[in-house]
Amino acid sequence: MSETEQQSGGGKNQPLRAPRGTRDVISPEVERWQDVERAAHDTFGRYGFREMRTPIFEDSAVFEKGTIETLQSAQKEMYRFVDLGGHELTLRPEGTPPVIRAYVEHNLGHGKDLARFYYIGPMFRYERPQRGRYRQFHQIGVEVFGSESAALDAEVIDMAMTWLGDLGIRSLQLCVNSVGDHDDRPAYMEKLIEAQRSLLGEMSEDSRRRHEINPLRVFDSKDPQDQLLIEKFPTILDHLSPQNKAHFDEVCAYLSDWGIDYNIEPRLVRGLDYYRRTVFEVTSSALGAQNSLLGGGRYDGLVEQMGGDNIPGVGFAAGLERIVLALPEGAGAAPIDCYIVTVSPELIPQAMKVMRDLRSHGLCCTADFQDRSVKAQMKAANRSNAPIAVIFGPDELSKGVCTLKMMESGEQQEVSLEILVEDLHRIVHMADPGN
Ligand code: AMP
Repeated sequence: MSETEQQSGGGKNQPLRAPRGTRDVISPEVERWQDVERAAHDTFGRYGFREMRTPIFEDSAVFEKGTIETLQSAQKEMYRFVDLGGHELTLRPEGTPPVIRAYVEHNLGHGKDLARFYYIGPMFRYERPQRGRYRQFHQIGVEVFGSESAALDAEVIDMAMTWLGDLGIRSLQLCVNSVGDHDDRPAYMEKLIEAQRSLLGEMSEDSRRRHEINPLRVFDSKDPQDQLLIEKFPTILDHLSPQNKAHFDEVCAYLSDWGIDYNIEPRLVRGLDYYRRTVFEVTSSALGAQNSLLGGGRYDGLVEQMGGDNIPGVGFAAGLERIVLALPEGAGAAPIDCYIVTVSPELIPQAMKVMRDLRSHGLCCTADFQDRSVKAQMKAANRSNAPIAVIFGPDELSKGVCTLKMMESGEQQEVSLEILVEDLHRIVHMADPGN
């Protein structure tokens, strides 16, 4: 059997499966996703950000230009294809280049206005899958264009921390650093390369490869031996130009002033090469090896590189799967208020009418409608976790009543259809006063 068949099923007699590195998001997990997305819309909206939805695939050039110094390895991770018209396309591996493409294409900055955007959606990278690392994953990201001010870097970080804090995620660690820019990086890189060269023999093979492509990436190595060597490398933080140092100090001063806890991590460089000056990362000890919840930084120069004006930018991208993993227990349950049970199928039209009425009054209800026995419907009601079953029988309906059964206690009562909405609301609210 070919590797493709093994991965996704579909070989002879093999059950069909989701492709390796992808996953189905099913209730009750999907409600947790919705909570995270809803909180993003709320929080980001309050900070004046507007959502942007870009295509899932772009001309491959968007990612080649957008990550001009990008590592060969990142290029290899991309899902590229040629469509039937011969166009070279790439499934987006990250959100920033498409948002910049759209910002330039539609002249969204109107010259020099500040523009704040966020996006939510799937990203695709051909990585080695493990818990918290997928080939299709989802990011919620933000981008601000138009200002070099350190206030914006701090604002974006503040917004990220507010969002995660409001979601109830505890044990958050914020690390910040500055990776300098064209003023200070070249001289620093020379020193770094020299330091790495003298230790090449002791470095892991992966880090030796990173050293060849981009020496800054060696800092990202998780290899324990590399970690010891990394301690010996010079850090860019010690080699910042006076302006870049002042910019970084200002970001830190804002964070301190607002009571946001952070660590300065001189070895934080972030994977993508387009970052300038501020970089940051938020991790959570609630996660395992893949503990990075979000990362971002300033990318002055990238808009110009992608064909726009010389507009500075700053942003971050957060991994939705990881945020959901870090959420406190119990968040996101989807309550169904009542389950409708019909004693015989002829009653379905009447039952549906009542359900439409309940739904229009804000009650969440569901039913089976499969001509199954009452016993089977009651079992389904149980599985749905609805606190109440509303039972329609022919005699009752002719009297204008139905039976409410409390699923937990088994207690039953007859209720007039005229006051059903009111009664259900009362019972549901008593069971969940926070409703
Ligand atoms: P990056 O775009 O690589 O800076 O990643 C930003 C965030 O996206 C990370 O902090 C993770 O939370 C998430 N992320 C990146 N790659 C993956 C992946 N392969 N699977 C799941 N989440 C990811």
